[in-house]
Amino acid sequence: MEFIEDFTPELTVKSPGRINLIGEHTDYNLGYVLPTAIENQITFRFQRNNSVSTCNLYSLTYDTGFTLDLNMISKSEVEWENYILGVLNEISKLTDRVKGFDCTVESNLPTGSGLSSSAALECGLAYGLNELFGLGLSKMSMVKLSQIAEHTYVGTQCGIMDQFASVMSKEGHVILLDCKSLEYDYVPMDIRPYKIILLNTKVSHNLASSEYNTRKQECQKGVDVIRKKHPQVNSLRDVTLDMLRPHKNEMGQTIFNRCSFIVEENRRVLAMTQALKSSKLEEVGDLLYEAHDGISKLYEVSCPESDFLVNFSKDYDAVLGARQTGGGFGGCTLNLVHETAIDDFTTAAAKAYKDAFAIDLEVFEVRPSGGTRIVG
Ligand code: ADP
Ligand code: MG
Repeated sequence: MEFIEDFTPELTVKSPGRINLIGEHTDYNLGYVLPTAIENQITFRFQRNNSVSTCNLYSLTYDTGFTLDLNMISKSEVEWENYILGVLNEISKLTDRVKGFDCTVESNLPTGSGLSSSAALECGLAYGLNELFGLGLSKMSMVKLSQIAEHTYVGTQCGIMDQFASVMSKEGHVILLDCKSLEYDYVPMDIRPYKIILLNTKVSHNLASSEYNTRKQECQKGVDVIRKKHPQVNSLRDVTLDMLRPHKNEMGQTIFNRCSFIVEENRRVLAMTQALKSSKLEEVGDLLYEAHDGISKLYEVSCPESDFLVNFSKDYDAVLGARQTGGGFGGCTLNLVHETAIDDFTTAAAKAYKDAFAIDLEVFEVRPSGGTRIVG
């Protein structure tokens, strides 16, 4: 693309990926989550190009770009373009101050690995345009418009966690977010001498987004059944196991399993918050294993590769706990590993994984980090 040749960016924005310590699939059920941004991120560089409505975007990661006209935004056949187009479409509903611009994106965040490169892409664009054109959008409105962009242009009916974590995170903390009220609290994450180690299965099942929407519908079916008896219930957030159990036959085993996972997962997020605050590290680890068990057996969004790595870690006393993080069907497992045993554990895991699946495991350490920011 031409603009790349002599690009003199006037604004640089960094937009991070995230991990979710616990609370999977609870966001769209209006429950609790406990995510944080990580240091891996997408870097955006912007310049205004003095045109009225012509925008050029280039992904250095994919070595491909496209041009769009702000007055004629519509869905694209190319997946990544829809994250950009969706955000521009949502911004255009709020303001007409965006004019022509050029933008590059460059990432050191594995895509499709449960670390939410998608939210990093949406939120970094919104954040950059807000600054470049003085749109006056609040952080929360950028979070929300990015979420809606993913619904309308990409077609994933995601909750609000990923965008919230990408924008709002604070170094050294996880965020306890109530996805119903959107109230939140920064919880210090001090797990010394343990570190957060991600093992990337490198499996990214393309059924993920369709299964994601199916899970959302299954939860809604459960709510519909419970509402007949408890009309005050609006989401699984309002449901307890005691309310759920009598409806098992009526909703059937599958829907019952989905609902009980969500109800239990909400409880685990609150228990995890307490365990972190009181430095009960054994409990932190146990909750991770318990959560993975539900992810795998009740919510059925794991895969053999993730199950293998989580089970493998159970043989190591130096691993407090582990689970698959993110929407599911692969991506990364999150492991809390004693700092003296990281090499031993990850070397053994990589060998066992290679033997079992013939895939080279990717291993990296992450730290709770700050949210989307302007760096120049
Ligand atoms: P995750 O959010 O877990 O990484 P998703 O499937 O939700 O997985 O989002 C990944 C998609 O986001 C990619 O397939 C691509 O369309 C888009 N994307 C992420 N990073 C980039 C990038 N650096 N350049 C272009 N598109 C990207
Ligand atoms: Mg995503």
